[in-house]
Amino acid sequence: MEYDKNNIFARILRKEIPADIVYEDNYTLAFHDINPKAPIHILVIPKGDFISFFDFAEKATPELMVAFDKAIHHVIHTFDLQNEGFRILSNHGVHGGQEVPHYHVHIFGGRPLGRMLPEK
Ligand code: AMP
Repeated sequence: MEYDKNNIFARILRKEIPADIVYEDNYTLAFHDINPKAPIHILVIPKGDFISFFDFAEKATPELMVAFDKAIHHVIHTFDLQNEGFRILSNHGVHGGQEVPHYHVHIFGGRPLGRMLPEK
């Protein structure tokens, strides 16, 4: 599968469309999800053409991988989620329910998040 350079997160990275940005550095961008599923719902994306976690784990440099985890940590700390708790999640492909084909990690917090997955 080819990376789609016009997916919505690629366009947010190029600043062609706006996002409610909470953190940015040379490696990553983090912004509020437009359709939040929890009081705090942030998306963290790497700068680079990566479709999903699987693609990222295969192709990203160790430097970018570390920076990406550090950015997630930074956002968790910014929203002070480390004590009450949070969930991080990343979808891949059809079974994962991935909608946007640019690797992203969801950070959810701000309320009890319930069971890990919905009942079948
Ligand atoms: P996923 O199903 O894991 O691919 O999640 C994609 C997420 O991107 C969903 O939670 C959407 O609400 C969110 N989303 C889609 N478009 C935008 C946008 N323009 N700005 C912020 N979040 C978005």
